[in-house]
Amino acid sequence: MADTPTAAETEADDRPSDFIRDVIADDLASGKHTSIVTRFPPEPNGFLHLGHAKSICLNFGVAAEFGGHCSLRFDDTNPVKEEQKYIDSIMEDVRWLGFDWGEHLHHAADYFETFYAWAEHLITEGKAYVDDLSPEEMREYRGTLKEPGKDSPHRNRSVDENLDMFRRMKAGEFENGARVLRAKIDMASGNINMRDPVIYRILHAKHPRTGDTWCIYPTYDFAHGQGDALEHVTHSLCTLEFADHRPLYDWFIENLPVPAVPRQYEFSRLNLTHTVLSKRRLIELVEENHVTGWNDPRMPTLSGLRRRGYPPEAIVDFSGRVGITKSDNTIEYALLEHCVRQDLNKRAERRMAVLNPLKVVITNYPKGESEMLDAVNNPEDESAGTRQVSFGRELWIERDDFMEDAPKKFFRLAPGREVRLRWAYFVTCTDVIKDDAGEIVELHCTYDPATKGGDSPDGRKVKGTMHWVHAADAVNAEVRNYGHLFRDAEPDLSSGLEAAINPDSVEIVTDCKLEPSLAKFSPGVPVQFERLGYYTMDPDGTTTAPVFNRTVGLRDTWAKEKKKG
Ligand code: ATP
Ligand code: MG
Repeated sequence: MADTPTAAETEADDRPSDFIRDVIADDLASGKHTSIVTRFPPEPNGFLHLGHAKSICLNFGVAAEFGGHCSLRFDDTNPVKEEQKYIDSIMEDVRWLGFDWGEHLHHAADYFETFYAWAEHLITEGKAYVDDLSPEEMREYRGTLKEPGKDSPHRNRSVDENLDMFRRMKAGEFENGARVLRAKIDMASGNINMRDPVIYRILHAKHPRTGDTWCIYPTYDFAHGQGDALEHVTHSLCTLEFADHRPLYDWFIENLPVPAVPRQYEFSRLNLTHTVLSKRRLIELVEENHVTGWNDPRMPTLSGLRRRGYPPEAIVDFSGRVGITKSDNTIEYALLEHCVRQDLNKRAERRMAVLNPLKVVITNYPKGESEMLDAVNNPEDESAGTRQVSFGRELWIERDDFMEDAPKKFFRLAPGREVRLRWAYFVTCTDVIKDDAGEIVELHCTYDPATKGGDSPDGRKVKGTMHWVHAADAVNAEVRNYGHLFRDAEPDLSSGLEAAINPDSVEIVTDCKLEPSLAKFSPGVPVQFERLGYYTMDPDGTTTAPVFNRTVGLRDTWAKEKKKG
């Protein structure tokens, strides 16, 4: 038989490969499962970040690859920290990444009645008890990694007393923290999670979904696995820190009348240089006003990255390249930027923008006249077509594209030197005009009308090609150039955020000069400012002065490093 692969085999070859996909493929092949169900289970207590994107891409990705489905489930068990604005932003972000949960939108809160009944079931079976120890006492009784815990004096309450107490907890008879319901497992277990964990606590708080219906709430640990079981999740994928919780989740599943048995698999979290991927830290950044909000373009949140101009396709590509493993490591931020550049290079139209303007007068260009020139929108994509840019006697160029005493290797403008103005003409600098302080205020140049379009008629060569903007119709703008939020690759947060934050994480440049067509862009639409970087419009702009955020510069440090090998 020939070795030509079948269509199914080719497809399998194209699939990313990792230990989780191997397990799923085996489970389908062996008939253990006929279809698979995964879920992305955020707690709505913050905005999603790049780490969550990794989990979203994995869960929705494998469901799509293996013909199953993935749901979005809010593990909303702590009303004190959870808010509707987080729920809304999470849904927006998952959709923005390009994933669709269809009809599979769930909330742990929808199962509160079932969870409550299951808690009573454990009590009835003698496997849960109400404890009156204070949180401090409970911590003392719990023991340490080296020492076993001790039994609470309330551990052996009768089933009837426990049921009565638990019902009174539910009825609102006690204040926050007065009592808890604990699973009765093993206070001497080597795994601290198994030392009679709390499964219900009293919280007199309004829940975004159930309002004032409940004043007791299940813990995350009690809700998580049971939520998976109720949804018939086959492969419950989570990060490594939950590996120690797996025996507990399995204990609940074994001891409750659940409709299905989910299996949990753990993979390593995404860590990224120059940033933090922990909701707790991100909340601090917002609350201590180190950033302007969750969607500050320096934040590693999906809403921040969106505002900064990161395309969702690049984030999905990045998540795939990072891959799924069981070993902890830290990924270079430069890899993410590389993915962003690769994507934007294909899609972003080019425009000219001058950030630090210096006036140029073309002395041999007729006064009061102007003309339209053709400019290519995207050399990587012919279908993007061309546009017209106006040219005339007065132009703006970048101040550092001129040097008065230029070394030989400076291939831009200098006295007596000729350069090409992109899409326009060759120009030669004839005069440098200074103010009384000796500051250069204007350059005089002549242009060669025979070089229209930037082509040389006689094979004459110029070393430099520069961008420019016609002063007559330039639009003023503010440009925000971003750097890393944290100074060091691996930020040391031991003395607080303040000390670790990069003081130069944003450079705000005002009075930039843009090609007029840029004023008609809108937030989220990518554009390359020629020779400068990729940008997108910020919603902060006014009708008179748009604002642009730098998504990423043009220089690809990651690709360079790889080449060096
Ligand atoms: P944080 O540690 O930032 O507070 P979390 O794990 O508490 O995040 P959840 O809302 O509980 O946030 O996370 C939802 C899902 O996203 C979980 O399955 C979790 O494992 C996964 N996740 C969170 N952070 C990362 C990360 N850095 N890399 C990969 N997956 C992550
Ligand atoms: Mg969590």
